[in-house]
Amino acid sequence: MKRRTSEEVLREVDFIQTMREKLMKAEKVKCPRCGEYLKFLGKNSGEHPGVFCPKGDFEILVEYD
Ligand SMILES: [Zn+2]
Repeated sequence: MKRRTSEEVLREVDFIQTMREKLMKAEKVKCPRCGEYLKFLGKNSGEHPGVFCPKGDFEILVEYD
């Protein structure tokens, strides 16, 4: 994996934040890789909370305090 610039990391953090806010409001969010709608697993889903692409090419795990 190649090293990312801080600008790229910041953009990703920003993207994740925006996406989480949309998902919390039950808005649909598309996968940035393939365009499929992402699935959101909440705190009580019984699995690790996070955002997943149904095609498996993108995922973000969400940590709750
Ligand atoms: Zn995808």
